[in-house]
Amino acid sequence: MTADTPIKGPTSIVNALREVVGEANVLTSLNEAAAYLTDWTRQFSSEALAVVRPGSTDEVAEVVRICSAHNIAVVPQGGRTGLCGGGVPVAGDPSVIVSLTRMNAIRSLDETGRTVVAEAGVVLETLQDAALTNGLIFPLMFGAKGSCTIGGNLSTNAGGSNVVRYGTTRELCLGIEAVMPDGSVINALTGLRKDNTGYDLKDLLIGAEGTLGIITAAVFKLFPAPSARATVFLSAASLESAIAVLNRLQDHTGGGVEAFEYMPQPAVDVIRKVFPDIRSPLENPAETGILVEVASSRPADAEEMEDGSIRLNSDVMELLADCMEEGLVLDVMVAQSEQQRNDLWRMRESILEAITESGPAYHLDISLPLAQIAPYVNEMDAQMAQLGFQPLTVGHLGDGNLHYALSAAEGRVWEELPLEGAKQKVFALLTRLNGSFSAEHGIGQSKLPVMAALKEQTQLAAMHAIKRALDPSNTMNPGKLLPPV
Ligand SMILES: Cc1cc2nc3c(=O)[nH]c(=O)nc-3n(C[C@H](O)[C@H](O)[C@H](O)COP(=O)(O)OP(=O)(O)OC[C@H]3O[C@@H](n4cnc5c(N)ncnc54)[C@H](O)[C@@H]3O)c2cc1C
Repeated sequence: MTADTPIKGPTSIVNALREVVGEANVLTSLNEAAAYLTDWTRQFSSEALAVVRPGSTDEVAEVVRICSAHNIAVVPQGGRTGLCGGGVPVAGDPSVIVSLTRMNAIRSLDETGRTVVAEAGVVLETLQDAALTNGLIFPLMFGAKGSCTIGGNLSTNAGGSNVVRYGTTRELCLGIEAVMPDGSVINALTGLRKDNTGYDLKDLLIGAEGTLGIITAAVFKLFPAPSARATVFLSAASLESAIAVLNRLQDHTGGGVEAFEYMPQPAVDVIRKVFPDIRSPLENPAETGILVEVASSRPADAEEMEDGSIRLNSDVMELLADCMEEGLVLDVMVAQSEQQRNDLWRMRESILEAITESGPAYHLDISLPLAQIAPYVNEMDAQMAQLGFQPLTVGHLGDGNLHYALSAAEGRVWEELPLEGAKQKVFALLTRLNGSFSAEHGIGQSKLPVMAALKEQTQLAAMHAIKRALDPSNTMNPGKLLPPV
């Protein structure tokens, strides 16, 4: 097979697609299309008839109509940073990948209403920068910000580090424009904060992972940019203590906690093994390490105090000193400069890459009621250690979300470990404690078996009914999110 070998299939469809988006925007050789065919995890890789890169909503609609007429699967794709195999075709399905990356305009920014209208292919970091240029912030924040797109963020209802204050992507979105499976276009970009006119189709498409339509643009809320920040790495006495500290900080700062990230010592160790230039924030190991960020846009919080620190930092430190006296906190490191803040965040955002680089692992993205986090982690860590696993856990603790990865313990061989038995234990306790098996990454292809096993049957039936009603020929990202009936 040469680099110019066609990916697959009928030339008449490819020609029709070329007429819509132009020859240069239909990739049909393996050489050109290779990067679009494999997901970030490298676990999912497939063929496609073509990769199509439309430049407008009308072009997306026409592409969808052509595929629908020929019963070809349409696979919407953004920055390909999804972690569940949702953005690449299912092996065996004749598919066209619709990459939204050319639709990358920020259409308008309303400083008065504090909203922004952006096309689906806008990279998250680009949207953050555009907001900041106008003295505002778009608060969605996580490690893939330089590559993921807002279309992907909406479709996976992405979360990240700032959910504790601003909510998930769903809560940031005021409206969408989308192409439905039959090629019709929904235009709901008014940006109204109140609009109770029937079923909320925006909320149906958000988190649908491209199975109900292609999002082409969205209106988002923007927020005042903080004028003061306190960024701290602390060692809590236990997970229970950490959660007590979170609530104390919320009370003390008027709900100013922007991030409360769980980073226990084994996670820090794995990061330092893969990225030796990253330093441990504290001298002593922190069994319950937490990266905390508190922010405020109140001018008074940015005032300089007599000792040269800013008021917000002093307030936070005062509270943490009380927490230390009470034995909730054992040690604290405060970022004294933007560089130190960036170093702490670089450490946090390196974890997925570090675990991926350091060997095979099974990744869980779970959420629990806050009060159940400590019992869950304590019991699971003990059980998994007995089975020969080393749990590598980090998480957006402030919103009860843990990324709980199982890797092989020192001296153990991954292939010999009882992974299926371990998964059963993990999910059984999760179910007992009212947790979710997918907090923020979605279902895609990788979590279909657990979706089939654990999601309430009545909810699954309702989801299938919605899918059948909107996409009767099942051409919109088939084989994702919904397990086969
Ligand atoms: C290092 C790293 C850290 C991460 N951290 C987090 C985190 O903290 N929180 C979190 O929530 N996620 C995280 N993720 C996962 C990932 O970044 C998010 O799921 C992201 O929202 C995916 O965006 P994308 O543009 O890359 O979408 P893709 O991967 O291209 O697609 C994801 C899904 O959305 C669908 N889709 C994409 N665009 C559209 C569209 N325009 N219309 C309809 N459907 C569409 C695809 O079909 C697919 O099902 C992380 C990933 C990495 C690699």
